[in-house]
Amino acid sequence: MRKDRLAQFKKKLEEKHRQLSEGVGKAALYAKGPEDDSTKDLGDQAATSYNREFLFELSNGDRRVLKEVVSALQKIDGGDVGDCERCGEAISDKRLEALPFARYCIACQRLIEEEARTAAG
Ligand SMILES: [Zn+2]
Repeated sequence: MRKDRLAQFKKKLEEKHRQLSEGVGKAALYAKGPEDDSTKDLGDQAATSYNREFLFELSNGDRRVLKEVVSALQKIDGGDVGDCERCGEAISDKRLEALPFARYCIACQRLIEEEARTAAG
């Protein structure tokens, strides 16, 4: 990847990193909330636990992406970015534009998802 493009790419990842860090931090804060369930009726309690689960899921997903973003940033620092980790082909610009932390080219990503589906039964 060319130097100017690499810088652009890194900026994008850093922006994403910032957004996610804030999001994960907020979700964790909200999920812990200082509320007291004992003062609420059962309907409220159910809603509260539903929200907690939802936020937990959300922050888990965000945390996973955050990890991908961090490893992509590390790869940039190592000067090795934009190539598929599976087949070594260059990942298309369009794909990197949408998913700057993509580790695989579109063909390999499909194969991996296919394998995951097959493994899951
Ligand atoms: Zn590939």
